[in-house]
Amino acid sequence: MNRYHRVVFQDEAAFRFVGGRVSVDFTATHGLRWRDPSVERIPAPADLARWFVEAGLIDIPVPVSASALRSARELREALYRLMRGRVLEEPLDRRAIDLVNRWAAKAPPAIRLTADGSAKHLVAPTADGLLAFVARDGVDLLGGSHANRLRECSSDTCTLIYLDTSRAGSRRWCSMEVCGSRDKMARYRRRAAD
Ligand SMILES: [Zn+2]
Repeated sequence: MNRYHRVVFQDEAAFRFVGGRVSVDFTATHGLRWRDPSVERIPAPADLARWFVEAGLIDIPVPVSASALRSARELREALYRLMRGRVLEEPLDRRAIDLVNRWAAKAPPAIRLTADGSAKHLVAPTADGLLAFVARDGVDLLGGSHANRLRECSSDTCTLIYLDTSRAGSRRWCSMEVCGSRDKMARYRRRAAD
């Protein structure tokens, strides 16, 4: 078992970045949704600040208020409902649409190309601006041609949503290294027990 496996299996609170888009990864800050209790990966404002950094949006944490954290969780659940609705091909939740649209209408941080042309940086980010950035990514994804590539992990014990960018559109796991290999091991053990 390599280090990545150990971290992911042992630390439920660790952030997951297997969604393929920042708005999808944001929904993964609420994990094991089937379980009671599920896992809240942004329990405190500082955790949301850390998520913005680990998601690669900013280099230095920005101040996050308690109300920004509440808003962030609301936005996250609305994005999740809409993405899962797409996965299940259900009608989209109107209240979730309104909430995501309200955030997408706010001004995101400005973006800037770096001198070497290799990266864009968010300029003067704030927590609200970063949430607007995430909401816009969600609108772009849900309203775009890739929305039909949203999937839910096939594992019974994983509720992560991800964007399937495989050519055939046949990816089954949020992560081959975690849920994919866990499934392979389970099938191997079943065969060995026969
Ligand atoms: Zn999974």
